[in-house]
Amino acid sequence: MKVWSDRRIIDNKAPLDSFSYPLHYGGPAVWEGMRAYVQEDGSCKIFRLKEHVQRLRDSSKIIGYNIPYSNAEIEQACEALVQQNGNKDLYLRPIAYLNVDAESIHGIQTKDLKLDIYCVPIPKLHRNSEKGIRMVVSNVIRAYPQFTMQAKTPANYADITQVQPLLDQTGVQDAFLLDNQGYVVEATVANFFVVKGDVIMTPPNKGSILPGITRRTVAEVLGDSALMFSKYKKVPRVVEKDITKADLYTADCVFLCGTYAEVVKVSEIDGRAIDGDDSYFRIIQTEYSNVVRGRK
Ligand code: PMP
Repeated sequence: MKVWSDRRIIDNKAPLDSFSYPLHYGGPAVWEGMRAYVQEDGSCKIFRLKEHVQRLRDSSKIIGYNIPYSNAEIEQACEALVQQNGNKDLYLRPIAYLNVDAESIHGIQTKDLKLDIYCVPIPKLHRNSEKGIRMVVSNVIRAYPQFTMQAKTPANYADITQVQPLLDQTGVQDAFLLDNQGYVVEATVANFFVVKGDVIMTPPNKGSILPGITRRTVAEVLGDSALMFSKYKKVPRVVEKDITKADLYTADCVFLCGTYAEVVKVSEIDGRAIDGDDSYFRIIQTEYSNVVRGRK
């Protein structure tokens, strides 16, 4: 797969430099994950490209560094890269990082980040989206509400390292994380929704979650009462609410959402089956796929 690196498209990824500053200090770096989808008309389009590039920009502002390219340049680079890689379903990962050695700790000279954009085929997820995935609620607390949580920056992903031993022990596919008050706020790399009757709940953004672009798309689709009524004769109420473990255990249906995972049903949480009415999940599965593929 070809890589975009400082205005050039090159054949291979850069080898990992183990003496690089971001690897030693968990940043400064910011990144995005987006997907290109082949559309109904045969063209290929990056889903919510502008929003992702803007979030990359916002992330860099939050951590106080600069990406020395305009949003338009980054968008064009992503599109050119998808084209170079064959205009098919792809996952894109732009990463902007401080390109200096770890020894620079006492004297960083620049606020400008280097930008590379990677592009990889999307592996078939071993998660069975029909049956759903098994999860546990971990006791890992998402980084304390603070402004850097709103940035997609490597330091925020230290949670994954904390959660991995629990996944290994329990054999489940993912875990929920808590905020500092004990509410359940996110999965490791995805937001989530909880369905109870016609109410669909998701945790509010109080500084402990990454407010996902997929989360917003799901809320827009399910909140489109004209669409929901005309096509499905069901109109849910989508609300932001602090979610407790009890809300999860007693839900009709729980599903994760994120760019990589898209929408994935959860079949079991802490050994309790979540097996009630999943019709809203099936609706969003269909409608999400329609939106990303440009189908009406
Ligand atoms: N939370 C975290 C921590 C994530 O890494 C992601 C994936 N980017 C999400 C939520 C979902 O965000 P999005 O829908 O924008 O991919």
